[in-house]
Amino acid sequence: MSFKSPRILQAIRAVKLMAEILLTADRTLMSNYHGKEFLGFGSTAPPILPECIIKALFFPPVKNKRGIPLEAPYGLRKVEAKLIEEGFNVLTVDPDGLCSFIDEAKALGVYTMDPLGWGPSSTTFASIMKVGEPCTAIYFRRLLTKPEVRRARRRGLKVIVGGPGAWQLKHKPKALNDYGIDCVIDGEAERVVGRIFRMALNGDELPKFYDVDLKDVPSVDEIPDIISPSVNGLIEIGRGCCRGCHFCDVTLRPLRWYPYEKILRELKVNLRVGIRQAILHAEDVLLYGSNNTVPRDDKVLKLHELCKKYVDSVCWSHASLAAIAVNPKLVRVLSEVILSGRQRMWGAQIGIETGSPKLLKKVMPAKAHPFKPEDWPNVVRTAIGIAHDNNLVPACTLIVGLPEETEDDVVKTIELIDDLRRYRSLIVPLFFVPLGKIKNKDWFKVEHMAELQKELLVKCLRHDVHWVKDIMGEYFSDLRGALIKPLYQLFMKAIEREARRRKVI
Ligand code: SF4
Repeated sequence: MSFKSPRILQAIRAVKLMAEILLTADRTLMSNYHGKEFLGFGSTAPPILPECIIKALFFPPVKNKRGIPLEAPYGLRKVEAKLIEEGFNVLTVDPDGLCSFIDEAKALGVYTMDPLGWGPSSTTFASIMKVGEPCTAIYFRRLLTKPEVRRARRRGLKVIVGGPGAWQLKHKPKALNDYGIDCVIDGEAERVVGRIFRMALNGDELPKFYDVDLKDVPSVDEIPDIISPSVNGLIEIGRGCCRGCHFCDVTLRPLRWYPYEKILRELKVNLRVGIRQAILHAEDVLLYGSNNTVPRDDKVLKLHELCKKYVDSVCWSHASLAAIAVNPKLVRVLSEVILSGRQRMWGAQIGIETGSPKLLKKVMPAKAHPFKPEDWPNVVRTAIGIAHDNNLVPACTLIVGLPEETEDDVVKTIELIDDLRRYRSLIVPLFFVPLGKIKNKDWFKVEHMAELQKELLVKCLRHDVHWVKDIMGEYFSDLRGALIKPLYQLFMKAIEREARRRKVI
C-alpha cells in the first residue's frame, strides 16, 4: 500500500485527533541528507555560509505529507514502535508540522544526538572555525522554543528528551529550564520509556534525569521492530561492543546481535516506501554474530547476501580496523556481494583514534585485538590498504587531546597519517570529549592545542582535500547526485580557498 493511499491518510487523520504523544526531532535529524547519509556530518558544522545554503546542502527537510515525515531517525522509530506496542496513541511528526498536532498532545518526545553542540565533531568544527555554535545546537533550541511548543507547555504538555546526545543535558541542567524540558532519558530506553510517558500522561512528577541502569538494558526480544521507515534505510543489526575503550559509553552495555529475520523485517519496512538502500548499524558490522573480536565469515556473508537480495545498496555504519585486517579474504568476498549491481563503493565510519601503541594500550586496550597494541600502526595501514583495494571508503576518526597524550604520541599519529596518504579515505580529527569510564577528565579545547597537534590537523585537512574530489565522483554518480554535485564542489572550493588563504595547504 502506498504512503499516499487514502486509507493511510484517513488513518493518519483519525490518529491525529487522538495522538496523546507526539514524537519529533530537530531539522538536522529530520532529514535524509539527499539520500546520502554522510552529508549529515555537515549539520555538526557552524553555519559558515548563509544558513539557508548550509541547510539546503546538508540537511534539507525530509519529505512529509501534511506534517508526517516519510522517513524519521531510527532511534525515534524504535521509541515509536515501543510506545505503540504498549498501547499509546503516538504520532511521529516533522518539526515544522508540530503546530497542526500539538493542541491534542499531552506529551512530546524529542530525539537528539547533539542538543548543545558538544559532540566531538561539532566541538572540533566550532573551535577551529570560530564562527558560532553548530547547526545541531541551533536547531535543537529552535525546536524547543517554538511558540506552539511554549504555548502547549503552558497548558501542561510534558517534554521528554532522549537519544545519544542526552548526556550533554546532564552537564548543563539549566538548559532544562531554558528549553522547557521535563525529563531527560539517557541510555537504551525500551524497558523504561513506556513507564515515563505513562507518568507524563497521568500528570505524575517526572524525574529530571533518568539514567537507564545496566539491569534495564533490553534483551533482543524486548527491542521491537520499527514499524515505519527510517532515514536512509538505516537498520540496526546489533548493539554493544566488546572492545572496552575507556572513553566510550557503548562498551558498558552487553553485546547483542539481531537474528536475520528481525533485520529483514525492518529492511522490508523501508523497502515498502521505496527506500532501496540499507545502512547496517552496529559498532562493528564485521563482527555480526561473533562473541569475540574475530569475524564469523559465515554469518556476516549470509547477512549481506540476504540484504542484497532486496536492496540496491548496502553500507555500514561502523567497522573496526582490526576486524578488517584479521580477515582480508572476508572483505574481498563481501565486496563482491556488496558491489554487485550498480553499487560501486561503500562506506563506514572507522576509528583510528591514535597512531601511538603506548596510548592505545592505556586508553583502548582491546582496540587492536586479536592483534597486540604494539602492532596498531601496522594494523591500521593494512586495514586501510585492504579497504582501498576493495572500494570500501573509510571515514576515519582521530581523537586529539586524549588524557595523557604526549608529544611522542602525536608524532606517531602524524607519521601514521603520512603513511595513509595513498589510500582513499577521509580522516576526521575530533577533540577529546570526556565520556564513558573517563567522563571525569577535562575536555580538550582549542586553547590547549600544541603546535604538533595543529600540524596533525593540517595533515588531516590536506589528506581530505586530496581524496574528497575522488570520493565525490563516485558518491554523486547517480542521477540526483549528478545534479547536486556542482554545489558540493563549490563548497569544497570555498574550504580549499580558505585553507590556502590561511596558508594551511
Ligand atoms: S571500538 Fe568503538 S564502540 Fe567499541 S568501545 Fe571502542 S569506541 Fe566504543
